[in-house]
Amino acid sequence: MTESFKALLLEQQPDGPVATIRTLTLDDLPAGEVLLQVHYSGLNYKDGMILQGRGNLVRDYPHVPGIDLAGTVLESADPRYRPGDPVVLTGYRVGEAHWGGYAQRACVRGDWLIAQPSGYSACQAMAAGTAGFTAMLAVQALEDHGLQPSTGEVLVTGASGGVGSIAVRLLARLGYTVTAVTGRPENANYLHQLGASTILAREALADAPAKPLLGERWAGCVDTVGGDMLAHVLAGMAYGRSVAACGLAGGAQLQTTVLPFLLRGINLLGIDSVLCPAERRRGTWERLAALLPGADLDAITSEIGLEDLPDYGEAILKGQIRGRTVVRLD
Ligand code: NDP
Repeated sequence: MTESFKALLLEQQPDGPVATIRTLTLDDLPAGEVLLQVHYSGLNYKDGMILQGRGNLVRDYPHVPGIDLAGTVLESADPRYRPGDPVVLTGYRVGEAHWGGYAQRACVRGDWLIAQPSGYSACQAMAAGTAGFTAMLAVQALEDHGLQPSTGEVLVTGASGGVGSIAVRLLARLGYTVTAVTGRPENANYLHQLGASTILAREALADAPAKPLLGERWAGCVDTVGGDMLAHVLAGMAYGRSVAACGLAGGAQLQTTVLPFLLRGINLLGIDSVLCPAERRRGTWERLAALLPGADLDAITSEIGLEDLPDYGEAILKGQIRGRTVVRLD
């Protein structure tokens, strides 16, 4: 008899996808080169979208969501991996176009895996997950465009979310002066503890800017919100500085003028974690693990089970989750 395991299965119903915990067998898994025992997955904004059937991200049902996973290799047709190897997977549209991490077993391509970063447990690797990897990519993009701690104040929008919390921590650890934008004033202490010097209320930046150019305040920005807030931030950037655009928690539309680009030489840097090339992916994870010890991640992480995911998926889209959430599979 083939081995059975637990999975959160999304099935398409007339009112949208419905998630239930099912017992599947290895025969149910899609084909792949490496069979994994999944120990932990995570909850990202995109997981919330998939669980709620938003954004048309999943085309084929039934589907196992979970865009991140950390596990142990059970079998491998890829010579780079052997049974017992601890590995991590983020991106490559796993959990959207391919079955993902909300199951005790996964079958994936060897090219999608990296070794579990040294210093991290499987749980901590997922506490970082796509959010941590994206935050590190964003900080590196700003540095590549000249940002240094002496340049001035760096803004992080959506600061108490997953990407935002880790971006605040990383920037503070690198010696930057961080201003955290949040819609939840009750998170001010949390954000100060992560290293933010200043807390800015969301309302200060939430609307489109009154003028195409505002005072030159920000030396850099990690933006997880998009929409009018990104337009507002662009208008307030200091000359020649850059914004790393990571997210759309506040909206996907961007209405701005070209004036910040033409008159102030502002750079709008796109950040994509999903198809980031393998070489950069490994280097970025190594730097992340070196800068952000597992204990720092433990302090911002909550643990849930598969059964909690439908509620948490709804909550993350409402901006109600603080820091990171990992999903225990063992
Ligand atoms: P979270 O939900 O954890 O964080 C988003 C935060 O944004 C919230 O906690 C909240 O912070 C703030 N926020 C929520 N709704 C609004 C709103 N309507 N207006 C303004 N601020 C809002 O999500 P993640 O950290 O997982 O992801 C953040 C964004 O980054 C998402 O859009 C996600 O899709 C994107 N992303 C992109 C990646 C890429 O490769 N480019 C990879 C990972 C994520 P607060 O309460 O503090 O204001």
